[in-house]
Amino acid sequence: MLDFSIDNIPFGIFSTPKTNKRLATILGSTVVDLLWIAKSGYLDDLEIPASVFAQPYLNDFIALGKDKTNAVRERLQEILVNVDQMPISVCFPVETVQLHMPIKIGDYTDFYSSEPHATNVGKMFRDPSNALLPNWKHLPVAYHGRASSIFVSGTNFHRPKGQVRPNDNEPPIFRPTKGLDIELEMATVIGKANPIGDSIDVNQAENYVFGFMLFNDWSARDIQKWEYVPLGPFLAKNFFSSVSPWVVTIEALEPFKVPAEPQDPAVLPYLQQNNRYNFDVQLEVTLIPAPTANTPQPEATTICKSNFKHLYWTVSQQIAHHTVNGCNLNVGDVLASGTISGQAADSFGSLLELTWGGKNPIVLPDGSTRTFLEDGDTIIIKGFAQKDNISINFGQVETKILPTK
Ligand code: MN
Repeated sequence: MLDFSIDNIPFGIFSTPKTNKRLATILGSTVVDLLWIAKSGYLDDLEIPASVFAQPYLNDFIALGKDKTNAVRERLQEILVNVDQMPISVCFPVETVQLHMPIKIGDYTDFYSSEPHATNVGKMFRDPSNALLPNWKHLPVAYHGRASSIFVSGTNFHRPKGQVRPNDNEPPIFRPTKGLDIELEMATVIGKANPIGDSIDVNQAENYVFGFMLFNDWSARDIQKWEYVPLGPFLAKNFFSSVSPWVVTIEALEPFKVPAEPQDPAVLPYLQQNNRYNFDVQLEVTLIPAPTANTPQPEATTICKSNFKHLYWTVSQQIAHHTVNGCNLNVGDVLASGTISGQAADSFGSLLELTWGGKNPIVLPDGSTRTFLEDGDTIIIKGFAQKDNISINFGQVETKILPTK
């Protein structure tokens, strides 16, 4: 596992058997108690109440605004260079602590912003020669999802049940999903609110971003196929979503901005962003099947290698579009990117695409195959950015599938 570098300094929430939930950062593999840092006077000149660091979520800290949160991050970069000299009571090996949901998510929106993903899905479900719907290149398509069923890495869930129609000529039936799938995504954490009625300018939008987490938008394809017309995803998505425990700031990703591919046709003026950019963050998905008597320690298989930069609609364009009608974003809202697929067949961010609708099953080292996921399967998404001497690790989001309740 890549360590967390001094260039990173992400924020999260931890507890130990002896301490309540509170704010933390991580350096190397050492979790640092930020309440202790604040109480010890290291941040006194920044005039932030220590109570902000004693909260069970990052929201109050984020709401201080970028001037304060960036100052805290820069101060931590100064003092944690000598992390070895910090008292042992404030530094915890990451494996000895519990990491928690970092954000109290208010509203959650899921976009659909990767062109290869939208094209692949369109080819499979609609018209192969006309895969993208007419609106797709004119606006970043999205739906409002459910915030309360988003959980942190290490939280597992039971295979959902629902209504499906396996045969187009017969009535629907009720059963556990046979189409349990992942969606490899990144989640933008909103760091600043806009008042109801106001829109966020596309060229100011990055000021409204606190940072990013890895995101797995678990999906039940058979339920989705039957329910999604005409209003979009519902029970195929809201049973569970997973996020990584550390929020990496947008400032940490500054060296990893890369130009976004030009858009054709031209977009409306409110979506025209100067110097459109994405973030070059490498993403990887691995699958580990359940242990069996024959294979007590099953191998992990990398099933997908993608990159956050494969977005047609940038995060700034998503924010500008989300608020163009006056919709208010709040601190702690999460905007997921949509499944991030590249052009290469091994970069597709869902099993639906990787197996091409089940036609090309994935073969695992134990000889078993997967079209969709089995009970006992564990999925791990990792993310990292690397350039010159700078590395920014996102850690991982790991989730295991439990049998239907
Ligand atoms: Mn999604």
